[in-house]
Amino acid sequence: MTCSRNAPISESHAQGGGQRADERRLLIVEDDPVFAASLRYLLNHAGFQTEIATDGGSGLALLATTSAPFDLLLLDIDLPDISGHDVIRLARERGFDLPVIVVSGDSEIDAAIQALRLGAMDFVRKPFETEILLYAINRALAQSRLEREHSAAQLRVNRSERLHRFLVDASPDIIFILDQTGRVTFVNQRLKVLLGLDEATVVGRHFSRMVHTHDRQRARYAFSAEKLSETALHSFELRLKSQADAPGFRYFEVNLAAIGLPEQAAGEAGEGRDHYYGVARDTTARREVEALTNYHANHDALTGLPNRVLFRDHLALALIRARRNNEQVAVLHLNLDRFKHVNDRFGHAHADELLRQVGERIQGCLRGGDTLARFVGDEFLLLNSFVWSERDVLLIIDRINREFGAPFTVADKSAHLTMSAGIALFPQHGETADELIRHANIALYHGRLSGGHGHSFFMPEMGESTDQRLQLQGELRQAIEQDQFVLFYQPQVGLRDRRIRGVEALVRWNHPQRGLLPPGDFLALAEDAHLIVSLDEWVTREACKALREWTRLGIAPPRVAINISPRHLEEADFVERFLALLAEYQVDPNRIEVEVTENLFIRDPSMVALKLQSLAAHGVMIAIDDFGTQYSSLSYLQKFPIHTLKIDKSFVWEIDREYRQHAIIKAIISIAHGLELNLVAEGVETDEQLRFLEIQGCDEIQGYLISKPLPRAALEGLMRQEQQT
Ligand code: C2E
Ligand code: CA
Ligand code: CA
Repeated sequence: MTCSRNAPISESHAQGGGQRADERRLLIVEDDPVFAASLRYLLNHAGFQTEIATDGGSGLALLATTSAPFDLLLLDIDLPDISGHDVIRLARERGFDLPVIVVSGDSEIDAAIQALRLGAMDFVRKPFETEILLYAINRALAQSRLEREHSAAQLRVNRSERLHRFLVDASPDIIFILDQTGRVTFVNQRLKVLLGLDEATVVGRHFSRMVHTHDRQRARYAFSAEKLSETALHSFELRLKSQADAPGFRYFEVNLAAIGLPEQAAGEAGEGRDHYYGVARDTTARREVEALTNYHANHDALTGLPNRVLFRDHLALALIRARRNNEQVAVLHLNLDRFKHVNDRFGHAHADELLRQVGERIQGCLRGGDTLARFVGDEFLLLNSFVWSERDVLLIIDRINREFGAPFTVADKSAHLTMSAGIALFPQHGETADELIRHANIALYHGRLSGGHGHSFFMPEMGESTDQRLQLQGELRQAIEQDQFVLFYQPQVGLRDRRIRGVEALVRWNHPQRGLLPPGDFLALAEDAHLIVSLDEWVTREACKALREWTRLGIAPPRVAINISPRHLEEADFVERFLALLAEYQVDPNRIEVEVTENLFIRDPSMVALKLQSLAAHGVMIAIDDFGTQYSSLSYLQKFPIHTLKIDKSFVWEIDREYRQHAIIKAIISIAHGLELNLVAEGVETDEQLRFLEIQGCDEIQGYLISKPLPRAALEGLMRQEQQT
């Protein structure tokens, strides 16, 4: 694979550790091939070498047979053969001493805790966040290296008296003795290794001579006779001068204890009975990890770009300068158009890579003094100093658009991306950093609402109506309270007999001013505002009410399909609440089908499996919506309790046009039949499509050719009519 750049964390860390990330070998023991592959992709990208074992036995075998040892083990708990716990135990028994990070789902929390008890170093939750995972790995690697060094020294300590001097010298720490005035009377050879100094240049001199100039004042005081006489043990952090390192110093944690030296080691005249025994432990690596953490506080781990905190700082500075020199400054809020769609299509890990590439391309369009930051998700902030007019800003946007002209490619998939920008200028659109950022944001959303991608400069009118999006979200919240939603139903009919096999519930918003809005106009908004759960629950309740009534009237369709958004399914109590609603309306779960989309299975397969299984166990049927458009892996079709596949309308629409698509549709149909799944073709609009599907043996169709989604009364008419034939 091509690996253009490492994630920032591994890069910086590799310097600190003296070993490059790409020399680190990680063993992934994980039986879910999709998850393992996405882990591998991500880790390779971060510069690690990886091997995958799909069960515990082969994991252990890999540990034993490989010529290059592994540095770390990423371990799934739930494995097909032996458990993750056994792997940890057996690895220890067989003498493999490598740090273990357990990757496990929530359902396995207990097991994860037990793994930690068995000696695993860390635990990362599925679905993992990239930065957390990388951070855990780097931390575990750093810690295990330190432990190895210290335990190597520790081992030797227990051996023999004869080795004492050797031990003192081999210690990873600088060990020294000071007389009561703070002069060095003894120091081990570690001094040479860590600081590049000879014993002779130090012994007889005051300890503070070794201290970095900046810390010398502090050291003088800490090592002064009266300070030293106060307590028995002293501990402080200091920089010591180093001739061995580029910056000319290293960090140490110095511990000093008063000791009474044995007779023979004390001076002839009995002077120096009062001595201090010191150990200076090199903390430079730890410091670097801390610096990294600090870096993380100001940078986005995914793209390595400044985050909004740092952006604000840069902007504040730019404003001070602009005010002084009467200059203009522009703040651009950039947003990728329809990124959610791309995200679904590419899957989590690949979409992350895409965002990284986006960051790089935009960065490539900037001038020296500009700052690009990642704001959140697919939103970026851009600071342009030295702007003379709106034209200067437009030139930058043009440059970015040109750069975006070429498609982005990740792992063989490619996508054309476009971007929208909201722009606020100092001083005309705002005086402070916060105001400018907020106004750029408002301009962006204003532009988006008025349709399409492009750019918009902030206008005071936008500010007055406050954020339109907020307003719409407020309206949406009200809409739920005030019952402004309507449920339409679209029939799904048997292809041969054209009889109704089911109806799909499709929501519409009857907006008081704007009329009947399709879900495309408000679903994303509802997701953003965390209203999707209430909305889906409203739909479920409404569909149950209708089904109860249809049953009473004797016109009920065999099943009602309800769309469930991934965000909703991820709710911890989704299953209980869903079943409770069915029970409340005495609806037979066998008559309900939930439609979920494929990308659900990439996010957190074990969580999804549990929920779907529990739904299925209660008789609820599961349909995969829009099949073929996203991450289509057949493995989950076997693993999950799925009843129905819905072929996406895009494939159906290609039937009359592109011959290549026939192969896909044929393949989907034969797979579905092989797995004994019910197959529904969506969006059937023409007779030609219908005929093709019929020849191929598709089971059911849904589409305008049969019926558009209908209001409840109209559907009831249709069902009555069918009863009579
Ligand atoms: P979907 O689940 O794929 O629903 C099918 C969409 O295709 C519906 O659009 C339907 O009106 C449309 N359609 C059906 N037959 C044809 C056809 O022959 N030609 C054409 N051009 N279109 C056809 P709609 O109602 O606008 O829904 C859009 C999407 O919104 C749905 O896609 C679904 O993902 C989502 N959605 C709808 N209702 C709900 C809901 O209650 N909850 C959730 N979470 N999502 C919903
Ligand atoms: Ca659907
Ligand atoms: Ca669909």
